[in-house]
Amino acid sequence: MLKLSDLTQCVLFSSLAFILSACGGGTTDDTSALISPTASTDSYFNAEFFIDGALLEDISTQTCTLSSGTVTTCYKVVIAGKPANRDIGPFCPPSITSDATEGGIWFDGSGEVYDIDGDFILNLDTLYGSGWQLYDVATGLVNVTNTQAACEAAARPNVDPAYQNYCVQCSLDYVGGGVSQTFLIPTSPVALTNPANINSDVGVTLDGVALAPAAPVNAILGNYTIAAFDDCGGHVNPFEGYHYHASTGCTELNSQADGHASLLGFALDGYGIFAMLDASGYEETALDECRGHSDETRGYHYHSASAGENMFIGCFHGEQGSISETQG
Ligand SMILES: [Zn+2]
Ligand SMILES: [Zn+2]
Repeated sequence: MLKLSDLTQCVLFSSLAFILSACGGGTTDDTSALISPTASTDSYFNAEFFIDGALLEDISTQTCTLSSGTVTTCYKVVIAGKPANRDIGPFCPPSITSDATEGGIWFDGSGEVYDIDGDFILNLDTLYGSGWQLYDVATGLVNVTNTQAACEAAARPNVDPAYQNYCVQCSLDYVGGGVSQTFLIPTSPVALTNPANINSDVGVTLDGVALAPAAPVNAILGNYTIAAFDDCGGHVNPFEGYHYHASTGCTELNSQADGHASLLGFALDGYGIFAMLDASGYEETALDECRGHSDETRGYHYHSASAGENMFIGCFHGEQGSISETQG
């Protein structure tokens, strides 16, 4: 049912965030004290969990209105919009003889995660039916969107026909090195009676990046394109910049003393998102429809899905805060 490209989704989402802000649904400007790393709260959130460089300013609190109308206090989390501890990529492999180190990964929600190597490029019609020709037969070079114009033409909903049969990748240089966004995340999560569908970014990672909703893989494949992810499950959207579509181990930066799965970030409703597997490789099985459960140490929290499922969590257990692009 996904008909919108990534690009359209992100435009819609950022517009919605602006509308919410403009209507008073998102932010107010009262100043308040910075959060001490040791401040005790009734959520698992802690500013100290974010790694150096992930955030563009110290986390503060402000009044906010959540998705179901609760007026409360939110953490203001201003992410840098690119991973604080590594370079992104690679995404598309240069040729049909490239090995897995020269390209990233692809997933379509079926559960499989594919290395985007030369063989993957050669075998696309086996996977997805006829009509695929993502490389130059004469040279063996992969068709890659290597300019900003190509990136934007290939990443829009009505893909420019000239960029069908392209591996799509965009540079962070096209978006000023990264798109900062401000997330208002409730300091005291408010559980919903009925979980909410995910229609926005899911949350933020400890390395300063947005967790995007499911990649619109049907639309991407329907246009004979592969919107390549790097091995960390992220890629550059021409509007939102770099964002993650999967948890592959790069963002699970906060290990837990009791062996529980590592923390990777926080959802927009204030609950923690942890890795799928714990320190022993065990997957928690007693999860609710949102992929959440509770324990004494962490309260209610989520466990991410596998990368091949093209998602992080199944729904929002709590009322969501809001997202806006950062000005200046
Ligand atoms: Zn995306
Ligand atoms: Zn757990």
